[in-house]
Amino acid sequence: MEDHTSKSYSTFYLIGNPVAHSISPQIFNALFEHFHLPYNYTKMLVTSQKLPDILNTFKKQGIIGFNVTIPLKNTIMDYLDEISPIAKKIGAVNSVKIQNGRTIGTNTDIQGIQNSFEQAGYVHQVNQQVVLVGSGGAAYAAASYLSNYTTTLSIINRTLENAENLRRNMVSHPENKVKITCYPLHCPQEESILESADLIINATPIGMWPQSDYDPIDGYIPKQNQWVFDMVYNPIETKLLRKSKLNGAKTISGLDMLIYQAAEAFRWWIDWVPNIELMKHVAVQNLSIISSE
Ligand code: NAP
Repeated sequence: MEDHTSKSYSTFYLIGNPVAHSISPQIFNALFEHFHLPYNYTKMLVTSQKLPDILNTFKKQGIIGFNVTIPLKNTIMDYLDEISPIAKKIGAVNSVKIQNGRTIGTNTDIQGIQNSFEQAGYVHQVNQQVVLVGSGGAAYAAASYLSNYTTTLSIINRTLENAENLRRNMVSHPENKVKITCYPLHCPQEESILESADLIINATPIGMWPQSDYDPIDGYIPKQNQWVFDMVYNPIETKLLRKSKLNGAKTISGLDMLIYQAAEAFRWWIDWVPNIELMKHVAVQNLSIISSE
């Protein structure tokens, strides 16, 4: 690990719109404080129009890195000097590092997903059946991750065209091991598709605070032999996870993905091993503050 304690003060950012409810500043600032690093993390509301100006400012300031959230994860790719193969594959950047005046973009969501599965003890069976609800950025990351395993993937999405676009993107990568079929949300086959799944992933915001009374697969209750991964992390236990757990299904919370993707960015920016337990503790504390507002 490099000696950062003698380095000059630098600010890290989360840019996007909206950013108000992000708990990234609390998580990263707790790490900086814990390790006595001369850094600080803050959020900045940035629209697509302002993005080129902000990037120039960051370069001039010589900051080390920043995170990117909606709606800039795709747009930013047009303005970066370099993009990692993984971010190219997903088609989205969530972390940027500035090195020698050059902006380098990557995507740490896949690492977040992989570590979440490992932590939960999920074992990828050959020819696993997976249902992915959603076709936005999070779903692209999930599908890219699954493309490493022989998988029969059913993508269910409100807008069928968006699911088809995701399927086309996956098919365009020859190394992809996933066989994909797309369905519109609430289609007649939905129940039977869910019934035969080994793993169900929610990559929509359905069930997210303050609309915590909703669940993306209303009408289906996952069973004991099934796994459910909800990428929503606020609340930590969503309605989907609650009903799944009650019926004996195994669950993975979006909180793990949130922590592990942030941990990966931290490691990538400053080559420093993060304290995962501290990150989780701070996240849980701050999410409970938001949900009680
Ligand atoms: P996104 O790019 O905006 O995509 C949203 C997806 O959800 C789209 O497929 C959209 O369908 C669908 N959707 C949105 N509202 C819906 C509704 N009311 N009914 C049915 N479908 C709806 O968002 P994203 O970046 O993929 O994020 C999705 C969720 O994952 C968010 O809750 C986000 O917080 C979470 N997430 C978590 C992590 C983590 O670290 N845990 C990381 C990334 C994202 P259409 O195609 O029809 O618009």
